[in-house]
Amino acid sequence: MKNYVGDHTTVDPTSPTVTRRRIVLFPLPVQGHLSPMLQLASILHAQGFKIIVMHALQNTPNYSNYPHFTFKPIADGFSEIGKHMPEKPDPSFFITYRNENSADSLKECLAGLLAEPNEPPVACVITDAEYYIAQEIADSLNVPRLVTWACTLVSVLVYRDISYFYEKGYFNLTSKDLEYEAPVPEYPLLKVKDVIKTSRNPNGMGKYFTKVMKQVKASRGIIWNSFKEPEEAILQTFSHDFPIPRFTLGPLQRYLPLSSSSIVFEHDRTFFSWLDAQAPKSVIYVSFGTLAKITVLEFQEVAYGLVNTGLPFLWVVRPDVVEGSEWLESLPEKFPEQMGDRGRIVKWCPQKEVLAHEAIGCFWTHSGWNSTLESICEGVPMICSPCEVGQPIIARYVSDVWKIGILLEDGLEREEIQRVVKRLMFEKEGEEIRERINLLKKEVSISFEEGGSSYLSLKGLVDYISSL
Ligand code: UDP
Repeated sequence: MKNYVGDHTTVDPTSPTVTRRRIVLFPLPVQGHLSPMLQLASILHAQGFKIIVMHALQNTPNYSNYPHFTFKPIADGFSEIGKHMPEKPDPSFFITYRNENSADSLKECLAGLLAEPNEPPVACVITDAEYYIAQEIADSLNVPRLVTWACTLVSVLVYRDISYFYEKGYFNLTSKDLEYEAPVPEYPLLKVKDVIKTSRNPNGMGKYFTKVMKQVKASRGIIWNSFKEPEEAILQTFSHDFPIPRFTLGPLQRYLPLSSSSIVFEHDRTFFSWLDAQAPKSVIYVSFGTLAKITVLEFQEVAYGLVNTGLPFLWVVRPDVVEGSEWLESLPEKFPEQMGDRGRIVKWCPQKEVLAHEAIGCFWTHSGWNSTLESICEGVPMICSPCEVGQPIIARYVSDVWKIGILLEDGLEREEIQRVVKRLMFEKEGEEIRERINLLKKEVSISFEEGGSSYLSLKGLVDYISSL
């Protein structure tokens, strides 16, 4: 299987050197966080640990896909959230709610697991970094906690500094202010507007991330879904500010088979015969991930932008991606005829398989971290349309630092979309971008070889957990 590199990471569970200690994981129940955590669980299972996954009642993993894991549901009152919802909730509202309403259930479940007779000891609990309440609970039960982050290192530093940027007045700036386009003095590779775009409610996000960071620093280690090479420049600052063990053993998905069952939405596979018939590197693949939303106007600009390129495209339109729409009802009237057989629209697809398909020429993405890593692993150059939180930072790195894609700087507008597609698909600049992303793809492969950075990091993590 193309991407399967499990050979050097899988151990013989009957070997006497294999520890069968238990590891308890607790992911955030949104796909972009849930899937890397389940990938990590599979990797650690292959290393000989017994796996227990505590999970919220929403987006419950399909137990039958993980027959070797034990699952424990955690109540977090999320079904009642509607009663408490502010007018314009932002991500910090949802995650804070989950944190505050899952503490009792989490503590009870973890205490129960620790007290289970005839089971091997629990080596550690690994939670999403954003479950800040887990640290105190782990401390009170005397069990080490490690955290996972599903984004780049630099975005974590920016999250930590949101309150500082808020006090500095960044979030009052508009595109008319000179400073809006200026570099951020503390992070000169980023522009002030990138920081502004991370947070709709910077005051709330700032307070929330202050809590998260305090508990991350108190944890016993950070596991990153990334690999060392692209993060090298920031690793030193990061190590200074977060002096706890760090493990960059990703991209985690690369340890596992390319095709996998869907975690949250059902995969459409009906378009593959159409995709097989397209010329190599000719198709624009478009998807804005699991949570991003766009307005009807933006949706229509995407539609016009796509048909006007004259290129084939595969467009994932998640049913709730367009604000106020059920699905495709806001498409421009003549769009179906204009698209003809040149395009396909689906609700959800097996993205990693799509990106690995030879017909895909570029990926127009919202710059979620999983999508970005998946694109790097397949050497597919990107067009970036970030929305919020880490996405504007990832997009800036993709376009200006790693130079493996082009950022649509000023939103979704059909003529700009056409220009950017042309630059990426037909011009020298696009060729160079393709060469660079292929080099990064090779670096991923090297990092997984014996002695490579991800290889060593996984070994380091297993040794570390075994020593706890
Ligand atoms: N994804 C998928 N099918 C689709 C679109 C997306 O399987 O049609 C997956 C994609 O492979 C990625 C995840 O959804 O693993 C999105 O995660 P990401 O971090 O990119 O963005 P988020 O959804 O968290 O904003």
